[in-house]
Amino acid sequence: MAALDRQALAVRYHAVKSLLPSHVTLVAVSKTRTVQEIQALYDLGHRAFGENYPQELRDKQPLLPTDIEWHFIGHLQRSNVKHVVPLAHLIHGIDGMKLLDEVQKWAEGLGRKVDVLLQVHIAQEKTKHGFTPAEVDSLLSEPWHWDHVRLRGAMGMATNTDDVQVVQDEFKGLASLFERLKNNAGADFDTLSMGMSGDAHLAIQAGSTLVRIGTAIFGHRNQ
Ligand SMILES: *Cc1c(COP(=O)(O)O)cnc(C)c1O
Repeated sequence: MAALDRQALAVRYHAVKSLLPSHVTLVAVSKTRTVQEIQALYDLGHRAFGENYPQELRDKQPLLPTDIEWHFIGHLQRSNVKHVVPLAHLIHGIDGMKLLDEVQKWAEGLGRKVDVLLQVHIAQEKTKHGFTPAEVDSLLSEPWHWDHVRLRGAMGMATNTDDVQVVQDEFKGLASLFERLKNNAGADFDTLSMGMSGDAHLAIQAGSTLVRIGTAIFGHRNQ
């Protein structure tokens, strides 16, 4: 790995921060980044980091300061819930009822409540995970019976395309679903996680409250 360029990291970090309205939370996506890179951003004052892979989270978490808020933003398999629940500040990618059951089980075992977002499938790609908007509606039309799981909002990923109109429409669709659900939900339902390095500006315009940014802070990923 090339020597860590702290100054370049600081410049990119402050550039990203300067573009974000104050009500938008920044999660620095640290998948594939070293603990040294994460520590360097921590040293600049940043605390919220996002990881995609359970094993990577488990490897890095013990080597870094305990006041980091770890966001689990990847696809979560049921078999990995037990590893992620104890470490995660917020799990973004809840995409099925069985996954909710599993999070409930392990959170209950730990005697705590776990914060989650429902991932909603808004993109054209079939590979992206999530509930359909109709499934979310039907899930939330029933009483919430996962008493160790606190529903904080929704998360989505737009189609990976240069067509701004497509991305805008997908983000607006998710934002209106979020607003509609928010009207019937409790005060905890306050987080709309959408927007990455390439499309955060469009996500914020549409109403995002949390962006997940990797490349624009840490530089290009090799993997
Ligand atoms: C990798 C990833 C990001 C960050 O992507 P960048 O383009 O590097 O900003 C955001 N969200 C999810 C779910 C990711 O997997």
